[in-house]
Amino acid sequence: MSDKRDYYEVLGVSKDASKQEIKKAYRQLAKKYHPDVNKASDAEEKFKEVQEAYDVLNDDQKRAAYDQYGHAGTSGFGTGFEGFQGSSDFSGADFSGFGDFADIGSIFDSFFGGAFGRERRTQRSTRGSDIQVKLILDFEEAVFGKEEKVKYRRQAQCKDCNGSGAKGGTSMETCKQCNGQGRVTRVQRSFIGTIQTTSVCPACQGKGQVIKEKCQSCDGHGHITKEETVKLKIPQGTPDGLILRFRQKGNAGINGGDYGDLYVQIEVKPHKFFERRGDDIYLEREIDVVTAVLGGEIKVPTLHGDVNIKVKAGTQPGTILRLSGKGAPKLRGSGNGNEYIQLKIVVPKRLTKEQRKLWEDLGKTKNSKGGIFSGLFS
Ligand SMILES: [Zn+2]
Ligand SMILES: [Zn+2]
Repeated sequence: MSDKRDYYEVLGVSKDASKQEIKKAYRQLAKKYHPDVNKASDAEEKFKEVQEAYDVLNDDQKRAAYDQYGHAGTSGFGTGFEGFQGSSDFSGADFSGFGDFADIGSIFDSFFGGAFGRERRTQRSTRGSDIQVKLILDFEEAVFGKEEKVKYRRQAQCKDCNGSGAKGGTSMETCKQCNGQGRVTRVQRSFIGTIQTTSVCPACQGKGQVIKEKCQSCDGHGHITKEETVKLKIPQGTPDGLILRFRQKGNAGINGGDYGDLYVQIEVKPHKFFERRGDDIYLEREIDVVTAVLGGEIKVPTLHGDVNIKVKAGTQPGTILRLSGKGAPKLRGSGNGNEYIQLKIVVPKRLTKEQRKLWEDLGKTKNSKGGIFSGLFS
């Protein structure tokens, strides 16, 4: 380190240079020696030197220490330079890696220990996002299935520019802000020294390239919002919450990435009186007390039309009757589920005089031998 050049000399500025002057000098020199541009054998070395000088002189605290103690004054800070001071092998290496920058990614990766390692590739293609839409069906539509059209909007690739965002015939150019690296490194001061932070380049969103002339159809976005229609065949026996997937019907990807998928989630409206559990249908049916006592025939609705069923004499409240094959069609396979009818016996709340007399007469029989109410604790 003893043969280090004076930082002011490196940047070519005077000892009392303003921050503005230092920054300006740094920018010019960094550009000049950037290994992307300058293929001279000592360019990397010069670039490092410039970067280091700037890191110190741009930092008031370090600059003061440097002014007072020279290079010895900054060595204690360390942090800002570990990236390349620690890697003395860096200067010893033959830099063959620099020969092909497009693949290597950011030079800062190399200098600062590859902060993003695996994320170097800046021209990554990204799959488009998925879209979820809800389709509300009537109870019977879900039970028996139907054909349905769903309209939705998605980001589709712009045909005029093939998704590049560049006007037909024009090309992309290297982003000036990040020199095509897709990422920018910022040096920030903090109480523990300087911190290198690297983030996605805001000018090109990490693509490393910017559009020279925008495609007018999509305003340079590469995508346009488009209304789409998909035809759905709702299968019979479709349950509430079923999700149907349509591959590649979602939003367009970025940089040639695949389209996302479209998911259609089925919501089934409840029925007035049917309740569905899988393939089976449940129904509550009121019957009068006379029919429950004496038995009789009642009409019950099913998904396949009304059905007359017999109620046995002495039917108890809550009795469940089964109608085989009168439920919903099975989603996969053939046949239907069952319908279950739970009987609810309705006790009359109001009686005519005549009815009241009859119930009273009936009541007189309740304690007689073999009476219809015998066996009850009353
Ligand atoms: Zn376009
Ligand atoms: Zn950029």
